Amino acid sequence: MKLKYYSILLALTLLMTNLFSQDKPSLSITIDDPTTESTAGYDWKYKDSAILNTLDKYGIIAALFVCGKRINREEGNKLLENWNNKNHLICNHSYSHSYFHSSKISLTDFEEDFLVCDSIIRKFSNYTKLFRFPYLKEGNTIEKRDGFRNFLSVLKYKTGCVTIDASDWYIDGRMRDTLKSNPGADLAAYKEYYLNHIYDRAVYYNNLSRKLTGRNIKHTLLLHHNLLNAMFLGDLIEMFMQKGWEKINASDAFTDEIYNTAPDILPAGESLIWAIAKQSGKYENSLRYPGEDGEYEVAPFNEFIKSYKK
Ligand SMILES: [Zn+2]
Repeated sequence: MKLKYYSILLALTLLMTNLFSQDKPSLSITIDDPTTESTAGYDWKYKDSAILNTLDKYGIIAALFVCGKRINREEGNKLLENWNNKNHLICNHSYSHSYFHSSKISLTDFEEDFLVCDSIIRKFSNYTKLFRFPYLKEGNTIEKRDGFRNFLSVLKYKTGCVTIDASDWYIDGRMRDTLKSNPGADLAAYKEYYLNHIYDRAVYYNNLSRKLTGRNIKHTLLLHHNLLNAMFLGDLIEMFMQKGWEKINASDAFTDEIYNTAPDILPAGESLIWAIAKQSGKYENSLRYPGEDGEYEVAPFNEFIKSYKK
């Protein structure tokens, strides 16, 4: 009798835990464009180990989207080895980082470029067949869009979609400009703008995804291999945890069925959530194009920095 009582209690606890965890938004981390270039006086090794150590500290497996031309040298190979040894997913982000919507880039050009990157990363044990389109641009014509989707599926690759798109790269650029002229600058304002910006985008895409799917999807956040994340990624993860988000591994996130969606829109691409919303036709008044861009951040960023100093 007692045993029965305990099993009912256990079942209820499991049910509650399950319900509770489903109620939480979840977040995985994806990092694009690793480089071995030093920046604003910081060696790439500083930047690289800071990001890796942060992921390690929080026990997070990320997905690294490799653009071949940025790492195609001895040191680049070392960088990829470091990530591979920490079990992060080593994924394809093309060789040349071309703008697929350009009329100068044909389907064949884009396929050949993809294959060059694939040949660089495939030797790693954590090589994962996920492809992220540069600038999240998935084709400006049906021929290019569907041609490349078909090409990926023949090679058993999937699109490494982003659900939470953001402009960390823009804030990083502004911070590096400041550091170049003043290496000892106080970076508190940059950190705060970065945390606010990423959280704002996460809430926006999470709300939109809940409206579109009626559930909490497993998110993929777009970040870059830059100085900003070397310095503040830990603060970002802490913030999400404090706000009740669950941190998950990228390998887990990409199992969500939402990543099998291939929205029927042209031009194709942007955040997957943006694209699904666009396809629905219900958000014509609220969707901007592109979904995210540095130009949207210029005025609010300048305003923020100005008022921060006062
Ligand atoms: Zn990129």
